[in-house]
Amino acid sequence: MSTQDLTTLTENKKNAEALVTAANRGTLKLLVHSREIAQLKELAAKGHVTVGGSAVIPPKALLQTLVELLRFNSLTLMSLFRPGGSRHTKGKAIDISEYGGFKIDMRSPSAAAAESAINCVSKILENLPIGKYYLGLPRPRGGSARDPANDVFLPVGPETPLRISPKRNYVEDIKLVKEKARQAIQGALARNPKPRILCLYPDSADHLHLDILT
Ligand SMILES: [Zn+2]
Repeated sequence: MSTQDLTTLTENKKNAEALVTAANRGTLKLLVHSREIAQLKELAAKGHVTVGGSAVIPPKALLQTLVELLRFNSLTLMSLFRPGGSRHTKGKAIDISEYGGFKIDMRSPSAAAAESAINCVSKILENLPIGKYYLGLPRPRGGSARDPANDVFLPVGPETPLRISPKRNYVEDIKLVKEKARQAIQGALARNPKPRILCLYPDSADHLHLDILT
């Protein structure tokens, strides 16, 4: 095993232990508690985790990002590792449904739900550590539904592809985001220049998908 792998395992163990402590304390809330707590405990013991029968060594940035975000606010995680062959299987992405008391839930669109989602996303951006990220932004209704009248972040019309960055780069993507959310995102990133956001895309109704690139 290379020195780099050993460093990753050691860092993962340390960070997973901190996350188990945060989960016990209640600052880290886990929506699928039994699955995620088992994953964190396995990581704390071994530095790697079994997902769908295979051993996965997540990049150390994954757990590190969560530890850093939890230094400032409580956080609700929808899923840490899940089988299915996505970046969530490899530990390269996380879904956050609440941060600092602000929830993302636009399944039934309302002004209050929009405001809470905007606050949640900007709070996360304000506290993200150094790194490169893709953001899967919330959108009303989620699933296969589209509700352009209630879009808050990226506009999603009948033909708009989901989970694909419209312009393939942040500088152009952000111009498409609706004004209130755009100002909040730009403001948060002006206050915290550490994260580099590479692109934005429309994702689901009830979380921010944070893709962590290494
Ligand atoms: Zn996701």
